[in-house]
Amino acid sequence: MLFKEIIGQEKIKERLLQTVMENRVSHAQLFFGGEGRGKLSIAIAYAQFINCRDQEKFIRKDSCGLCPSCIKYDKLIHPDLHFVFPVAANKEVKEKPLSQNFMAQWREMLIENHYFPSLNDWYDKIDIERKQAGINVHDSNQIIRTLSYTSYESEYKVMIIWMVEKLNYQAAPKLLKIIEEPPDKTLFLLITENPDNIIPTILSRTQLVKFPKIEDNVLIGACETQLEIGHNQAVEISRVANGNFKEAMRLAGQKDERNEVFEKFVGWMRMCYTLDVPKMTAFSETMGRESRESIKGFLLSGMEVLRNCLVLNYTSPELIKIRGSELDFMKKFSPFINGNNAEKFSEEFNQAIYHIGRNANTGLVLFDLSLTVAKLLKIKAPVSVK
Ligand SMILES: [Zn+2]
Repeated sequence: MLFKEIIGQEKIKERLLQTVMENRVSHAQLFFGGEGRGKLSIAIAYAQFINCRDQEKFIRKDSCGLCPSCIKYDKLIHPDLHFVFPVAANKEVKEKPLSQNFMAQWREMLIENHYFPSLNDWYDKIDIERKQAGINVHDSNQIIRTLSYTSYESEYKVMIIWMVEKLNYQAAPKLLKIIEEPPDKTLFLLITENPDNIIPTILSRTQLVKFPKIEDNVLIGACETQLEIGHNQAVEISRVANGNFKEAMRLAGQKDERNEVFEKFVGWMRMCYTLDVPKMTAFSETMGRESRESIKGFLLSGMEVLRNCLVLNYTSPELIKIRGSELDFMKKFSPFINGNNAEKFSEEFNQAIYHIGRNANTGLVLFDLSLTVAKLLKIKAPVSVK
């Protein structure tokens, strides 16, 4: 991970670079701040920079990304880079769970989340429950064992402890001594979202590095480039995400889901309009196999589209919040939803939702509704709508 690959936090990057250049890397540091601010990715980039073998790095102010050390760091397989994080027993690891038992999933999870993981992402990944997870005494014994060996390949051994507030009370005392007096050339990078939950004896042994919220303009840029969303949506998402890139990712994901539902609805309306019975049958069967809740959700979203189409007949597009491809479709489709059929649409959709909620055969209900929609779409608008 290179510094330049991580969004924002320029002041922190600069400050960390300085510590290396001036040869005053503090052996135990605590990176703290809210979710989605890049603490873990910057910790990895910092450790990589310290161990990068290319001397040009000081001029470039970043790791080279090409030396043997950087390549192993990039894959998170460097033998002197260690991670500890909350774990618990699961189906595969039944006893004495250790972080190193979960390294493969850890690497996968980081990549899947653009190196901005949340605790929930992690618990989902290894299929454990929140209440059981912690950094346990087995792991703190393991940390001591690992760090007692001399480093294999690099100058510094690095131990990154993610969500150190999850360190349980038997595990903590074992770590105190080694954090206070670590073996030579050992670097502890502790990461937390809640410094208030960390025991004071650990807090007092670390140098604190506070991570502020990511600035709005940086977040907007990252939404556009990394999450591939348009500028207007990126602005909207950044306003809600409030400096938290993780939250921006979640919001962008929701948009994806919304688009998928919308596309499905558009496809359905087209087959009804052209009275394409084979497609209507296939649609009803496929959709009918989804859960009742998700079918109801689909129909409710559809009703919203129909309602917006009706509104669009009587008002200008600026007054409804829909933009982009949704608006394009609705401009074309809205003439088919009018004062003569809107109420009937609403009745029929509500009826279908009612029956689906009451154990009716979902495929049949959807097929009946498709035929009704086909009929309703042929009803012409009253004269002079606009
Ligand atoms: Zn390098």
